[in-house]
Amino acid sequence: MITNLQTPIDYLKGVGTNRADLLRRELNIYTYQDLINLFPNRYIDRTQYYKISQLQQSNADVQVIGKIVAFAEVAQKQGKRLVATFQDETGVMELVWFRGQKWIREHFKLNTTYVVFGKTNWFNGKFSMPHPEMELLEEHEKNLRSAMQPIYPSTEKLANKGITNRVIAKIMQQLFMETNGRFAESLSENICSELKLLTKSEALFNVHFPKSQELLARSQFRLKFEEFFYIQLQLIIKNLIHKSKIKGLLFEKVGSYFNTFFNDHLPFELTNAQKRVLKEIRADLGSNAQMNRLLQGDVGSGKTIVAFMSMLMALDNGFQACLMAPTEILSVQHYNGLVDLCNKLNINIKILTGSSKTSERTTIHKALENGDLQILVGTHALLEDKVKFKNLGLAIIDEQHRFGVAQRSKLWQKNATPPHVLVMTATPIPRTLAMSVYGDLDISVIDELPAGRKPIKTVHRYDKNRLQVFKFIKDEIAKGRQIYIVYPLIQESEALDYKDLMDGYESISRDFPMPHYQISIVHGKMKAADKDFEMQRFIKGETQIMVATTVIEVGVNVPNASVMIIESAERFGLSQLHQLRGRVGRGAEQSYCILMTGHKLSNDSRTRLETMVRTSDGFEIAEVDLKLRGPGDIMGTQQSGVLNLKIADIVKDKDILQSARFYAKKLLKDDPTLSNAENKVILNTYIEMGKYKNIWNYIS
Ligand code: ADP
Ligand code: MG
Repeated sequence: MITNLQTPIDYLKGVGTNRADLLRRELNIYTYQDLINLFPNRYIDRTQYYKISQLQQSNADVQVIGKIVAFAEVAQKQGKRLVATFQDETGVMELVWFRGQKWIREHFKLNTTYVVFGKTNWFNGKFSMPHPEMELLEEHEKNLRSAMQPIYPSTEKLANKGITNRVIAKIMQQLFMETNGRFAESLSENICSELKLLTKSEALFNVHFPKSQELLARSQFRLKFEEFFYIQLQLIIKNLIHKSKIKGLLFEKVGSYFNTFFNDHLPFELTNAQKRVLKEIRADLGSNAQMNRLLQGDVGSGKTIVAFMSMLMALDNGFQACLMAPTEILSVQHYNGLVDLCNKLNINIKILTGSSKTSERTTIHKALENGDLQILVGTHALLEDKVKFKNLGLAIIDEQHRFGVAQRSKLWQKNATPPHVLVMTATPIPRTLAMSVYGDLDISVIDELPAGRKPIKTVHRYDKNRLQVFKFIKDEIAKGRQIYIVYPLIQESEALDYKDLMDGYESISRDFPMPHYQISIVHGKMKAADKDFEMQRFIKGETQIMVATTVIEVGVNVPNASVMIIESAERFGLSQLHQLRGRVGRGAEQSYCILMTGHKLSNDSRTRLETMVRTSDGFEIAEVDLKLRGPGDIMGTQQSGVLNLKIADIVKDKDILQSARFYAKKLLKDDPTLSNAENKVILNTYIEMGKYKNIWNYIS
């Protein structure tokens, strides 16, 4: 019989109420199931035993057999430490505890043979081992032992209360004894045999008590695959439910707006990537399902024209369209870019933001409701309830990461049948992550920049090279170019950062004196009106240098600016550096990005700088960023569950993720309702995992 794994952990022999409480509080372990899924962080080879005379000054974990012959308390600056003299037939060493001393005194006996395990230090002419793992030799020999000793995740509290790694391993062993190590299979025979996977029971046994490196590796593969497989299955099913349940507006034709624009007014040849994405969007709009698509494309890859041409498809079918951007500056920029194109086509377009006048608003509201207004551009002012469309067919959101899911769904409600939705982002998310985070959106990618762009030259310079850098700036200004100089502004060190900014501004003012040079400064403490004034001076070319904090990161478009200097570049994250660099390289001139740093650099900073110098491919940069920071800081991951992975790692195991996604897709294609007998095990596991509701919706 197979034990019910939902049994509370209290029932496991050797656990009891106190330990159960601790396990719940510290490791979220409530049931047998949770305990089995507590996977080791790493493994240590414990087949070797050392004599004290053989110990080396290395940092390896070692195990030694011997006896405690004395305990002593030693006073130190704060509190005291407990020191045990530990000896074998070859010599003496010390065991040391800084915490939990009372417990140690009560539990460990003098002159009894123990196996101790841990790292050793060379201290006062002796080896000492702080907080060793200890086990009676007798027990040690009896225990289920394997070549690789698992090291489980733990917390300080657990260790202090005596729930050491050894105790966890013992509890785990007890669990395997009570269940006979037999666990219900959770993948189909098809998949298991095709991928030559170990059975669930074999994999669980060998991940906790590996018999060999090879079995350990295969066990980990099987369990990681399974973990990804069920996440992918869930995401794909969600997407399918969406497509089958949410009827979309059918745009039957490509009409005269689109064709006239394409044939007569397109200002340049579209890149192949733009053409491909337009085809993908066209296919969505011409199907019966509501489009919910994410368009990723690096800064400058030309997303706007794709957005505009998609809007034309809506207009051709008698619908309205809107384009929403996160800031007023960006909205205005979009509006200015589109208004000329619209005039040529006789399209009625307006802009609505927080600062639109009341009279304007009234006109806009009316024209929206009676259908005269065809395209509305704006900020989240568009989401207000007063803004009602006659028939909104397509809603486009730029810079998606600044808007939440809630806002996306608010747009849906702007029409009786939800409009098609296209979200655009210039912050590339690595594909592997996108698959997991945005699995419910379809994804299009513009992975090609328009032809003829000169790549931005990026260099790393140290503070001591500043004079050369200033000389370079002077040369560029002499050629008529403009320069950004950006300072970090980080909340925790705000006061100091402002000082750096102001010091920097002063020294730049000295090196670039008026009236020959004009300098703008913009930072977050300025009033909006002053900020705007300074910004406008730079945009109009009245000032040659813009000194700023990262407020200029999003949206500013000054094609004549050709140099981006980033001060203390080691303090910026990769995606921020990439976004900042994207402010230049917008005109015909060769552009430059200069990363200024001090001499002392951490390894991570060095990697970031080298990456920036090496590549301007946003996706490559995003991959490095993900490796450096982990998925936790990447937008959208918090809700997606990729952070709660128990054994797999979204960065290291991306090949397994890809394979899991492939098999999940294939499964749903061959057996969309999971009703084939051979897939019953998958259906059952899926339902077990508490996703009963989703699958029910999907089947009905
Ligand atoms: P982003 O993807 O960052 O929003 P934009 O849509 O603003 O990029 O495009 C950046 C610049 O490139 C604009 O000036 C735009 O007119 C131009 N552009 C877009 N597509 C092409 C193309 N296929 N060929 C030449 N220039 C293009
Ligand atoms: Mg854009």
